[in-house]
Amino acid sequence: MINSLQGPAPVKIMASPGSKTALQMNALVYHGPGKKAWEKKPKPSILEPTDALVKISKTTICGTDLHILKGDVPEVTEGRILGHEGVGIIEETGSAVTEFKKGDRVLISCISSCGKCTYCKKGMYSHCEKGGWILGHLIDGTQAEYVRIPFADNSLYHVPKNADEEALVMLSDILPTAFECGVLNGQVKPGDTVAIVGAGPIGLAALITAQFYTPAEIILIDIDDNRLEVAKALGATHSINSTKEDAIVKIMRLTENKGVDVAIEAVGIPATFEFCQSIIGAGGHIANVGVHGKSVNLHLETLWSKNITITTRLVDTVTTPMLLKTVVSKKLDPAKLITHRFSLENILVAYDAFQNAATEKTLKVILTNE
Ligand SMILES: [Zn+2]
Ligand SMILES: [Zn+2]
Repeated sequence: MINSLQGPAPVKIMASPGSKTALQMNALVYHGPGKKAWEKKPKPSILEPTDALVKISKTTICGTDLHILKGDVPEVTEGRILGHEGVGIIEETGSAVTEFKKGDRVLISCISSCGKCTYCKKGMYSHCEKGGWILGHLIDGTQAEYVRIPFADNSLYHVPKNADEEALVMLSDILPTAFECGVLNGQVKPGDTVAIVGAGPIGLAALITAQFYTPAEIILIDIDDNRLEVAKALGATHSINSTKEDAIVKIMRLTENKGVDVAIEAVGIPATFEFCQSIIGAGGHIANVGVHGKSVNLHLETLWSKNITITTRLVDTVTTPMLLKTVVSKKLDPAKLITHRFSLENILVAYDAFQNAATEKTLKVILTNE
C-alpha cells in the first residue's frame, strides 16, 4: 500500500523477514537503440508459484542482443535487462516448483515453456502461449546477478556433476538453435554435402552438430578468414571467403555442378538466403536459421522443379537434454567456441569485444559472476 502522505518509504522495509540478501543487484539494462548501461536494478523476486529465482554463475552475449541494441526488436522496451543464456544456482523456488530446490545448479534455457499449452504439447516450446522466447526480450534476462525464471520445472535443466559450466552456457541457445533449425530441419544425412553460410557462433554450432550425421563434405562460407580457420579446425572440409572468390562457382565445381544437399543459412540477410537458393541441388533442403529483418526474393523460376524443401523455425530447445548428454560425455565440445572471458561486472568491455568480432577475433564470450 502506498500512502503518499508518508513520503517515499525507505527501501529496506521491502526486505522479507530475516532476509540478509541485498535488495538491489547489478544488471545490463537496455535504454533504447544504441544505449545500454551496467546499473543497479531491484533484485527480482518470485511472482508466480511456478517461478524460480536463479543466481547467475555464468552468462554470455548473443548476436540477438546486438539486434536488440540496434533497435531491430521493437518489443524490447526501455529498462529491460538483456540476456537469455546462462547457468546459475537456485536461490529460491515458488511453491509449485517440484524438480528444483535451493542450491541446485541449473542450465537456463533461452525458451521458457509452460509444458501445458497446445504448442508445448506439440513440443513447440518456442510458441508456448505463456512463454517462448521471453527472457531478455519481454521479461528481464540473464545478464544480471539474478534472474527470475518462469515455469522453472520445464525451463531449467540440472547441471550434471563435474560438468564444464562454460561449455553448458552454449546449450542455452546456440547449440539447440543450430541443431534444431539447421541440422534437423536440413535433414543432414550420412554422405551429404552440406553448405553452411555464415561462420559465426551459430554457423559453427551447426558445423559441430552436423557431424553427428557424418556428412561427406561440410563447406563453410564467410567473409572473415579467422572464422573460416576456426571452422576448418572444427571439421569443415572446405572454407570459402566469399569476398575473395566466387563462392557459387567454387561450390558448383566441388559438387560437379549438382549443388549441395543441404544449405544452412546462418546470417539472416537477403544476399545469403538468395545464395542458398543458388547452390541448392535437386532434392535439397534449405534450412533457415538467420533472423531476417527484410523480405527476400524466392526464385521459384529456378526452384519450382527441383524438389527442394525450405524450412524455417524458432528454436524449441526440445533437443537440449540430448545435447546435454553429448557435452557431458565429451562427444561434443562446444567450449571450443569460447574465445573471451570477463567478469560479469566488465560486461560493457565484453560487449565491445563481441561487437568488434572481426578485429577482436571474438566468437562467444563468457561472463562470470564473481
Ligand atoms: Zn541467443
Ligand atoms: Zn506452453
